[in-house]
Amino acid sequence: MAGKILIVDDTAVNRIVLRVKLARAYYDTTAAENGRAALAALAAGRPDLVLLDIDLPDMSGLDVLARIRRDPAMRDLPVIMLTAGRDPATRLAALQGGADDILAKPVDEDLLLARIRSLRRRESSRAEQGEGPLWDMAEPPAPYDPPALVALVTQRADLRLRLSRDLARRSGHSILVLTREDLLARPGDEGDGTAPQPELFILDADSATGLHLVSELRSRMAFAHAGVLLLCDGAKQAATAFDLGVDDVASQGADPQEIALRLAAVLRHTRRDAARRKSLQQGLRLALTDPLTGLHNLRYAERELGLIAERARQQARSFALLFIDLDRFKQVNDRHGHAAGDDVLVAVARGLAEALRPGDMLARIGGEEFLLALPGLDLAQARSIAERLCETVQSLSIDIGTGQPVRVTVSIGLALGTGSETVEGLRQRADRALFMAKSGGRNRVSTDYSLAQGG
Ligand code: GH3
Ligand code: MG
Ligand code: MG
Repeated sequence: MAGKILIVDDTAVNRIVLRVKLARAYYDTTAAENGRAALAALAAGRPDLVLLDIDLPDMSGLDVLARIRRDPAMRDLPVIMLTAGRDPATRLAALQGGADDILAKPVDEDLLLARIRSLRRRESSRAEQGEGPLWDMAEPPAPYDPPALVALVTQRADLRLRLSRDLARRSGHSILVLTREDLLARPGDEGDGTAPQPELFILDADSATGLHLVSELRSRMAFAHAGVLLLCDGAKQAATAFDLGVDDVASQGADPQEIALRLAAVLRHTRRDAARRKSLQQGLRLALTDPLTGLHNLRYAERELGLIAERARQQARSFALLFIDLDRFKQVNDRHGHAAGDDVLVAVARGLAEALRPGDMLARIGGEEFLLALPGLDLAQARSIAERLCETVQSLSIDIGTGQPVRVTVSIGLALGTGSETVEGLRQRADRALFMAKSGGRNRVSTDYSLAQGG
């Protein structure tokens, strides 16, 4: 099923017509004939979307809407209100009350279905990003909503004048007025870094090219996630616009207050999605990063090592695997404390990282143990790099805030991989080599030759 929709309307014919239309699009529908029945249906289970008539016999649809928005579980439930009247105040009240849209009865079937799809798409992209503890790491929301840069794209001087001044006054946003040509000529990537990019676009679809602009915007990386409000008349054009990915549509003659309200809703969703994307990226990065040193962690190293081995096999080239372990590190902790030990780990990580080439992979895989993979090297080259790393660490003079710098050394186990053995086998050989370096006196490189000798 395409989703569960609750239809709330006191006229039986309306309910039946809507149910038939929606069933044809494979929606699963339930119906309620008044406010009380609607609330009971909502309490019985959350639908995916509500079509809510504003005039109900027992209470106003606006009251039902208010109850929905007060319930934390349904705060984001998409609600499309329907009204037979043409009163602008009713439309404003619905939008102010948190309706995602308000459509005039009789509803245009194409427009209604496109609007439902657009709201369902918004919800499913959110569901795809997942809910849960990851979001707790997101930055707390700003204490107030900072004004946005809104681009008003129109060819018409009258609209430009009327809307830009009115919107700026009502919303506090900065309005940047552009013609279609200005917009198309703007840098389409991350921008040129000099001018901030608009967070929201109001596109005036005064001709067929209005919709063309929507696809153009969505195809540009810098604007792919910007909010878009299209000004257009005609249900068919609005339906197409929703399917092209606009966030909302208002009629060209709409009350500026209605446009401001719709703009505020689009901005709220755009900003929330942006915060989620950012938090998701941060979460992914954190999951692969060692918090102390900022190096990759074991999880990342294991995945990357598999890829390096696979590439080596395909290209018939060798790569070096190094296990690097601090010598007698326990003594550093015992003598100077754990915090000083951490400073030493950070300094060694930095020292090692500075000695690397692009393409090398360094990770902290345990307390005082690092893994280094060096693609494209033979044994002699890898060995000389490993020797140099020993010297680099030995020569570090590490400040731990006592005025008395600390010096440490590392032992390194080296094994050459060709991609023909398992990564696990290679790791065991490097580990064995590390053990040899330790038992051989530490501060040295030991190489495992067991496979390399044959080649
Ligand atoms: P060896 O030369 O044989 O490697 O001796 P070692 O003392 O370095 O090795 P051992 O494995 O006995 O001890 C490792 C120490 O590393 C023990 C632990 O307290 C310390 N360690 C592990 N992780 C951290 C960390 O994140 N911070 C600090 N400060 N110390 C750590
Ligand atoms: Mg050690
Ligand atoms: Mg160790």
